[in-house]
Amino acid sequence: MIASHLLAYFFTELNHSQVQRIDKYLYHMRLSDETLQEISNRFRKDMEKGLGADTNPTASVKMLPTFVRSTPDGTEEGNFLALDLGGTNFRVLRVKVADNGSKKVEMENQIYAIPEDLMRGSGVQLFDHIAECLANFMDQLEIKDQKLPLGFTFSFPCSQTKLDEGWSQGRFEIQYSKVETNYSPRSWVAESVLVTWTKGFKSSGVEGRDVVGLLREAIRRRGDFEIDVVAVVNDTVGTMMTCGYDDHNCEIGLIVGTGSNACYMEEMKNVELVDGDEGRMCINMEWGAFGDSGCLDDFRTEFDAAVDENSLNPGKQRFEKMISGMYLGEIVRNILIDFTKRGLLFRGRISERLKTRGIFETKFLSQIESDRLALLQVRSILQHLGLESTCDDSIIVKEVCTVIARRAAQLCGAGMAAVVDKIRENRGLDSLKITVGVDGTLYKLHPHFSTVMRETVKQLSPKCEVTFLQSEDGSGKGAALITAVACRIREAGQH
Ligand code: ADP
Ligand code: MG
Repeated sequence: MIASHLLAYFFTELNHSQVQRIDKYLYHMRLSDETLQEISNRFRKDMEKGLGADTNPTASVKMLPTFVRSTPDGTEEGNFLALDLGGTNFRVLRVKVADNGSKKVEMENQIYAIPEDLMRGSGVQLFDHIAECLANFMDQLEIKDQKLPLGFTFSFPCSQTKLDEGWSQGRFEIQYSKVETNYSPRSWVAESVLVTWTKGFKSSGVEGRDVVGLLREAIRRRGDFEIDVVAVVNDTVGTMMTCGYDDHNCEIGLIVGTGSNACYMEEMKNVELVDGDEGRMCINMEWGAFGDSGCLDDFRTEFDAAVDENSLNPGKQRFEKMISGMYLGEIVRNILIDFTKRGLLFRGRISERLKTRGIFETKFLSQIESDRLALLQVRSILQHLGLESTCDDSIIVKEVCTVIARRAAQLCGAGMAAVVDKIRENRGLDSLKITVGVDGTLYKLHPHFSTVMRETVKQLSPKCEVTFLQSEDGSGKGAALITAVACRIREAGQH
């Protein structure tokens, strides 16, 4: 069972007992088939808990209704703006959606930095900055005099409320808040209240507030342009939409980037938080919070605990912290420090740089695992971290990276297996064919993540035939598509 067949095969200087010690420490991070099945079962239970009206308040997986009821029909068209806020980059986009039979979507976008002090400063400053970037982008495109519809991809847990009126047309339907009682709703966008910041954001005065309101206020404060904010979209939903535009089997969206999250189409009768039993609704699971109740504690290690404790949101997003780009490098760094202290690495000497939080980037995991033969890449990365490494050191570091990335992909697969099996059971099917739209740099660039995840899903839910489709810019394009549909429905409603 020991991974040492890999280690021992390569080892030149380390003796058998050292190999065994390394294996012992890595053992808890290698998940057995039974463990994965157990995690998948527990995830399924937490999904049910989040969906139930009575159990939702204490559930860690919040299963947030999005009021998006189906996937696009391809007849949408027009010019739209989109904002994508939710992790590493903040982007502003212009998207042209054409209904000329070819389902063509053209996009221009600009990345803007969000300085760290703004991520953790006041909410007013953050939204002023967002409005300023938007103004800059519109200046560049010379469209500041136009009032364009805007979709806001805001990839943090939001609860959408005040939704009491629905419009539907074709395969696609979104439910909007209707503030006025007459048939001319003032506000077409669902109120989206930020539940909690995640992924390194911590700006004050935003939690518990409607983010559309904050955006509108910031634009009003400037007064140099107008915007018609039409939809707030989670990046998982945008990704599902984008892939659903091309593949009608796509009813799940998955993100493995800075953070990790997924959404899927649930039967309305199971969505107890929303009235009505007909049809389906997209649920933003906020699955990163799985384990926050303690139910993953028997699989978490001291290294996971250390990363969690040193994060901006200790105790929260425990599943995400074992899976996503913001954390994997940090887990590896913690293990390397521990191994060095035990005299298993770098001749027992820790460099100052390795003590720096965040210094071991998740992209190193990809680079190290891409390096099949010479281990030169590993050594040059270690050198960059001020670490004098031997050949054995490189092999051990590579093994640590492999174990951590594999565990992340398997956990993601265990969650996904629960989702596809639930959908299959919902529909009373013996077998289900379904597509998952996926976005996120970790998923896209890590050499083994997608393969391991796919294998895990196949093994844990053998009755489902699951296709994974990479989305091209799910958050940007998806926000525009949802906005496009919302506008179409709105126009239909006004006639
Ligand atoms: P976001 O989730 O913020 O929208 P991305 O999908 O681009 O953004 O994901 C960013 C995350 O991807 C970062 O946490 C970063 O560590 C990670 N990352 C960047 N490059 C790579 C790579 N080559 N391999 C694996 N992860 C990477
Ligand atoms: Mg993204």
